[in-house]
Amino acid sequence: MKHFGPTLQVGLVVAAALAVHGCAARIPTGDPQWETQRRQMVDEQLVARDIRNADVLAVMGRVPRHEFVPDALRGRAYSDSALPIGEGQTISQPYIVAFMTQAINPRAGQRVLEIGTGSGYQAAVLSDLVSEVYTIELLPSLAEEARTRLERLGYPKVHVRTGDGFYGWPEAAPFDAVVVTCGADQVPEALFEQLESGGKMVIPVGPAGGVQRLRLIQKGPNGEMQSRELLPVRFVPLRHSGS
Ligand code: SAH
Repeated sequence: MKHFGPTLQVGLVVAAALAVHGCAARIPTGDPQWETQRRQMVDEQLVARDIRNADVLAVMGRVPRHEFVPDALRGRAYSDSALPIGEGQTISQPYIVAFMTQAINPRAGQRVLEIGTGSGYQAAVLSDLVSEVYTIELLPSLAEEARTRLERLGYPKVHVRTGDGFYGWPEAAPFDAVVVTCGADQVPEALFEQLESGGKMVIPVGPAGGVQRLRLIQKGPNGEMQSRELLPVRFVPLRHSGS
C-alpha cells in the first residue's frame, strides 16, 4: 500500500496538537516512547507532505497505532509503510490514512461508512472527528479482533459489522462520507446510492493486485456523480462474490 507521490521532505517540525478528546473511557496511551514516535510520524510523514488539516494532524498524533498492529511489529508501527495484520491483509501506510481522512473533510456531527475495517485503525481515526462510524469487514476473524480492540481502547462511536461491504449498510444510510480501504474495479453502486447529496466518497479504483487510482467522488445536487483522481495507490482487493 505504498503510494508513489511526493518524496519525503524531512525537516519541517510542527508539533502535533495532542488535543484532549472527549471520551472518558479511553485507556491511557501516554507512554512517552510512543508519543515521541507518533509526533515524528506526524512531522516527517504528514506535515512534510501535504496533510494540512489541523484536526487530521491532531488525531493522527493521538490514536495509538501500535495498538492496531501485531505485537511482533509494534516497533514498526509508526514507520512510513503498510504492515501485515494477518489473513493476507494490511493496515494502510499512515500517510494514506491521513490523506483519505483529509479528502472527505470530516466534521463533527457527520456519519461515515468505511469498507474494509482491517485492524480498525482508520475507523478509530475517523471516529475522533465525526459523530458515528459504520465499518464493514468481510473476514470474520479480523472483524471480531477489530471490534474487541476498539472496545478495549475506548472507541464507542465505531460500529463494526461482518459482511460484504459491496452492498453498504442500508439501514444506517445515508452517509455524509464513504471511505473504501480496499481496491475496487469500479465504484459499487450501492455505496454511491447510500451517499447523502453533497456527500463524498474516497475509493481506490483499478485492477486487483495492480496500481489503483484513488478517486474522490462527490454526489452532486441532482444525484449526479462527480469524480476526480487524487493519486496512485496499491490496496488489497475488495473481494466480492459477484465479481
Ligand atoms: N482500513 C484498514 C485497512 C484495511 S485492508 C485499517 O485501517 O487497518 C482492507 C480490508 O478490506 C481487509 O481487511 C479485507 O479483508 C477487507 N475487505 C476486502 N473485501 C471486502 C468486502 N467486500 N467487504 C468488506 N471488507 C472487505
